[in-house]
Amino acid sequence: MLMTPALLAAALAATPADLTPIDCSACAEWNVPRAPFALHGKSWYVGTEGLSAVLIDSGDGLVLIDGALPQSAPLIAANIESLGFRVTDVKWILNSHPHFDHAGGIAALQRMSGAKVATTARGAQALRLGNAPLDDPQVGFGPKANAFPPVAEVTELADGAWLSLGDVSLVLHATPGHTPGGATWSWSSCIGGDCVDMVYADSITAVSAPGFRYSDDPDRVAEFRATIDRIAALDCDLAVSAHPGFTELFEKAAARDAGKPGPAFFDDQSCRAYAAIGREWLDKRLAEEAAKAD
Ligand SMILES: [Zn+2]
Repeated sequence: MLMTPALLAAALAATPADLTPIDCSACAEWNVPRAPFALHGKSWYVGTEGLSAVLIDSGDGLVLIDGALPQSAPLIAANIESLGFRVTDVKWILNSHPHFDHAGGIAALQRMSGAKVATTARGAQALRLGNAPLDDPQVGFGPKANAFPPVAEVTELADGAWLSLGDVSLVLHATPGHTPGGATWSWSSCIGGDCVDMVYADSITAVSAPGFRYSDDPDRVAEFRATIDRIAALDCDLAVSAHPGFTELFEKAAARDAGKPGPAFFDDQSCRAYAAIGREWLDKRLAEEAAKAD
């Protein structure tokens, strides 16, 4: 169909559906813009105040981990451009887990960049659906509350698979628990011969809709514990959690940049410390469920 100039202008002015903001109680607070900052070498934080996104320059295109909310996508794109890159240079978008606050911006970022999207098989199913999987602890919030813009084409990667682009290779570690399709990503970042182990750590909080009980399914609890142990055991000098506050990322960056005392930016215990928070949260949750059952 030929478009008249007026029709074309209207089409360009309309907000694409994949940018329609999601309304949630924490969304405004999470989506406060944040200037990008260097993590190490060619890896940068490009997310918002409350939702992580990491950019890696492979030398042959960019890798982006997570897309936050739909309304975060323009902020992430602007952060990528402000580092001197083009959004169209993003070749892969990877996901931590298919909830609206980490996957909601992926459809828009995929459209802007033409990148391929990859995650676990269970995660890919949820991304295509644009909703949490049916066995998700938060499914009871309802399909409307859990919905996000669907991603049409998603590459499924197996647990332990490598994704290589240019001079970077990322490893997918399946981390089910917070949701069945979760993934944690690790890669080595080098400046010359100086290399650090980077981890983009999936959420490990035992959060659910009302009425859900983890203790009703011992296999799920065992799987969640195995995920937490797995993250704790990773080679890890810097954990960037999907919500940056859980790994004190901004506090670490502020101390580093000011040259002041504070939490060390690189710390080979950082994944262990993050895992301990998840373990404590899960234990507390199971104790609460046990108390209610009495
Ligand atoms: Zn989540």
